[in-house]
Amino acid sequence: MQEKKYTPLSEISGGNAEKPSKLRIAIQKSGRLYDDSVKLLNECGIELRNVKDRLKTESDTFPMEVFFLRDDDIPQYVEDGVADIGIVGENVLFEKNKKAEIVEKLGFGKCRLSLAIPRSETYQGVQSLDGKRIATSYPFLVNEFLKKNNISGEVHEISGSVEIAPGIGLADVVVDLVSSGSTLFMNGLKEVETILQSQSVLIKNNKLNKEQEILLDKLLFRIKAVKKAKRNKYVLMNAPNEKLSEIIALLPGMRSPTVLPLAEGGWSSVHSVLSEDEFWEKIEQLKAAGAEGILVVPIEKMVM
Ligand code: ATP
Ligand code: MG
Repeated sequence: MQEKKYTPLSEISGGNAEKPSKLRIAIQKSGRLYDDSVKLLNECGIELRNVKDRLKTESDTFPMEVFFLRDDDIPQYVEDGVADIGIVGENVLFEKNKKAEIVEKLGFGKCRLSLAIPRSETYQGVQSLDGKRIATSYPFLVNEFLKKNNISGEVHEISGSVEIAPGIGLADVVVDLVSSGSTLFMNGLKEVETILQSQSVLIKNNKLNKEQEILLDKLLFRIKAVKKAKRNKYVLMNAPNEKLSEIIALLPGMRSPTVLPLAEGGWSSVHSVLSEDEFWEKIEQLKAAGAEGILVVPIEKMVM
């Protein structure tokens, strides 16, 4: 089993125990969550100073200090109060089982923790795992799963390349993170149970002072506006005036659609906001109702 490196607290905090009136956020140093975490902060108007190869940095545009860490260490740092908040996958958060509260689901880093068996075998249900050797990087979650199903298995913790374990005779089955399933497939495995659905979340500890709670509310307000904007599109279209009421009835808008006269008589321009879930269906209905020249524009922020 590979030893995991835990960056000493003093290296991060500089030994400064006093609480600053800023938010200290822990994000992944490099890996699958890094780009989306930095992008989310940027979209919230939080620009970061030279982030490359740094342990921590500050923002000039928001009272925030950013610590770059291995994702495995983030729940611990947040529980300890070295960082006030953090961005981490639910898979890591639940595996580490630390005292940190989820404040918002962030919608990226989606994956699932799944049980996979050799493709040549037929899966006989959870009970068939009794006594099997299970390779995983998630021993806590696997043991919980076994307990819940009232079975005992031999859990072997390995820190990487879990999917090769059955092939080299180290285990009978694996529990690993999956997004497309192609890694499992390439290693002759098939997914038979989902143990956890996961995405990135914003977490906090219960040690925030008043000022920090206010800053966190500010940050959350911005995150929600960014998330909402991503789920919606701004649409503009031309409509013959005699069809206006039919077209307006199809559109939700923030309050109600905007209608402006076109230079050409008898026509109007109609503007509205459509959500992702109903988008294509609405566009078809609008076309059928007589709308023309439909333009779809991304929205950057959406404040209700
Ligand atoms: P670190 O060096 O920070 O410990 P890591 O190798 O543990 O990095 P990554 O592979 O960068 O972690 O994955 C980080 C997180 O991204 C995972 O914990 C999970 O929440 C998420 N993730 C999303 N899809 C996948 C996937 N297909 N495989 C692994 N992780 C995924
Ligand atoms: Mg990790």
